[in-house]
Amino acid sequence: MSLAISDALLAGRRVGLRAKEGVIVELGPNVTPRPEDATLDAAGAIVVPGLINGHTHAAMTLFRGYGDDLPLMQWLEEKIWPVERRLEPEDVYWGTRLACLEMVRTGTVRFWDMYWHPEAAARAVHDAGLRATVAAPLIDVDGRTKAMRAAALSSLDELAGAGERIEAGLAPHAIYTVSEDSLRWIAELAAERGLPVQIHLSETEQEVDDCLAAHRLRPAHYLDRAGLLSPHTVLSHGVWLDESELELIAARGAVLVTNPVANLKLAVGRIFPYPAARAAGIQVGLGTDGPGSNNSLDMFADMKLFALLQKHAARDSAAVDAAETWEIATGRRAPQLGAPRSLELGQPADFLLLRAGAPELSFGELPAALVYAASGAVVQSTVVAGRVLMRDGHVDGAEEVLARALERARHLGLAAPIGFPQNNPALA
Ligand SMILES: [Zn+2]
Repeated sequence: MSLAISDALLAGRRVGLRAKEGVIVELGPNVTPRPEDATLDAAGAIVVPGLINGHTHAAMTLFRGYGDDLPLMQWLEEKIWPVERRLEPEDVYWGTRLACLEMVRTGTVRFWDMYWHPEAAARAVHDAGLRATVAAPLIDVDGRTKAMRAAALSSLDELAGAGERIEAGLAPHAIYTVSEDSLRWIAELAAERGLPVQIHLSETEQEVDDCLAAHRLRPAHYLDRAGLLSPHTVLSHGVWLDESELELIAARGAVLVTNPVANLKLAVGRIFPYPAARAAGIQVGLGTDGPGSNNSLDMFADMKLFALLQKHAARDSAAVDAAETWEIATGRRAPQLGAPRSLELGQPADFLLLRAGAPELSFGELPAALVYAASGAVVQSTVVAGRVLMRDGHVDGAEEVLARALERARHLGLAAPIGFPQNNPALA
């Protein structure tokens, strides 16, 4: 399978691009389609790498608008957990498809997912054409250690044949929901099988206080004691980390993913200490967190808010610039998140075409326009592994995804559709 893109703008140059078997094989001003190629005329659109969402719970699209504006624990205990106990694989499949649709439309090409029924999530990612690292949340503070470990192992078996765009991982939910003994077991299993591990860490002050009270250690030191800080570990949030923890994370080579919108919406009370993380030399990525607590999967929004919050917190408008923010959002500052190195020969053909005529992209420097002015609406076409997932704003099968996801949400007693049914083709 081969694809040719013609008339695209790359770093100010008009170029053509050819991809074969998912990899860029030709790129330059004189590259033209061959007879065997599928084609996509970029018509002057700007080509950029895709965005990498370093932390989400994709199927929670079904929970959008369910329990907004509640305190975190009340939201979880009264709203989310009771429904999650009733979730079926088909709910996760269509919720994840809906998430993938939004990601394709707003330029995300790869994401890190932590959610129930990961085999259904993996199937959705595969069918949508995206890339993801997929893992089941692991929780055993309720004493269900044996069941949790069995579920972790069987999820790995089920994910084994998920396809080349999908990576299986392990996802201990957090240090306060997994016993120390199980954290150690997960660390050993991950090391033995070479698996990535994702975990929420230091999201709230309560978590830090409780960890100090129980273990006399701050969260990152405690996680390290359990053997879980390694170059294969992806930590989400890190809002309340102190200097000693940042140094430790840097020394262990773990990745830190910041989720600025979700942190603000859930009012965690502090801003991720990015300048200190950068100074320590930590790999940093960006995530949306779940669409139940963001509520958008449009990484452009998280990108802008990340930059603004860091400037504000540092009282320094130069604290982080647009080019650096763009690098973080495209995974360039955290190679472990799995982004292609760059748009060059031999690299995966994952990229976006941005509307040439978008008003937001008319003037100035491209990174500033992308970070401060644009939204996901500037994405015109999305290509992953040499396959066109969105062509000029059109995603094949979008209406079915909308209709089926709504059906699943209704079945769970969640969704009231917005707008008149007759205006929504998915409801007809
Ligand atoms: Zn999360």
